[in-house]
Amino acid sequence: MPDAPDLLGLPLPALGEWLEGIGVGRKHAPRLFRGLHRDRLAVHEIPDLGRHAATITAHMGSEPLTVASRHPSPDGSTRLLFALRDGARVEGVLLPNKGNDRVTLCVSTQVGCAMACAFCATGTLGLARDLSSAEIVGQVHAARAELQGTGRRLTRLVFMGMGEPLHAYVPVRDALKVLLDGHGEPFAARSVTVSTVGLVDRLRRLGEDFGGRIQLAISLHAGTDETRRRLLPAARHTSLEQLRDAILAMPRPGDRALMLEVVLLPGVNDGDAEWDGIARFADGMNAVVNVIPFNPFPGSSFRPPTDDEIERAWRALRERGVANKVRWPRGRAVDGACGQLVAGSV
Ligand code: SF4
Repeated sequence: MPDAPDLLGLPLPALGEWLEGIGVGRKHAPRLFRGLHRDRLAVHEIPDLGRHAATITAHMGSEPLTVASRHPSPDGSTRLLFALRDGARVEGVLLPNKGNDRVTLCVSTQVGCAMACAFCATGTLGLARDLSSAEIVGQVHAARAELQGTGRRLTRLVFMGMGEPLHAYVPVRDALKVLLDGHGEPFAARSVTVSTVGLVDRLRRLGEDFGGRIQLAISLHAGTDETRRRLLPAARHTSLEQLRDAILAMPRPGDRALMLEVVLLPGVNDGDAEWDGIARFADGMNAVVNVIPFNPFPGSSFRPPTDDEIERAWRALRERGVANKVRWPRGRAVDGACGQLVAGSV
């Protein structure tokens, strides 16, 4: 554990251990955790910590991030640019639900990304570093602060911002432990979705660590290994069959559908062989295919689909009996839609 940790990123047992180490005693951990996460107080404001507050403050790290700028879009979403302490920038997107007061936050997990998916602006950056668990939880705290006084509340998290969450496994695991802990302001497990290209060993660990409490979105993007390897270089050592086996081996509550993400790239992944393969992959899985029309970005070699091509994709899946929905990208007007997050471009 670092000497001056960012407390926001410490799961409750680690917080207790740290308090023990600085002579405060682990019995104060639940109170401190509750004060930080449920009541969102600064350490010196937390009641009943008394003289310990000064000791804790003297040993802890400072705020992991601040909101550098906000970019509202006409569709209601807001892209937040977060400034990290080392000068790096990452982004999050606030996505208000239509028709109620609930808001989803799209969370980043890395500065850049190593996965280099062919259709993704973030993938062109390469990986600078993983975020710490405090920087991940800090995005959630910052989002809640943004919503204060708006009459809206943050109820859902999707780990679909910059980075591949399972590539940054340890900080993401710790952040999830903090965010799901009942001593804080916990998100319901079904309200937290982790999106992944499908790193099978990490999927196994996620299953072991959370026992199916995390909703998954798998970046499928193709129904044949050949096309998938072309679009997702990170998947070149894993066949669709191996990925499917890994998912089926994971504990998953029966009532929650697995999300299979397919970025629609006309002329690349919209042929019959792709839809047949996607239907085979989804068969017997309680899965919904999210068709995501490609979001263009400068320098990309793909074009976005026309409305007819989107309609054809929807029909191709329906004819094969695959539950699906077209996810019209939100935040497109401010470059905050999926695969467009390249912090610093604002
Ligand atoms: S789609 Fe996700 S995993 Fe792929 S390069 Fe972009 S951020 Fe990384």
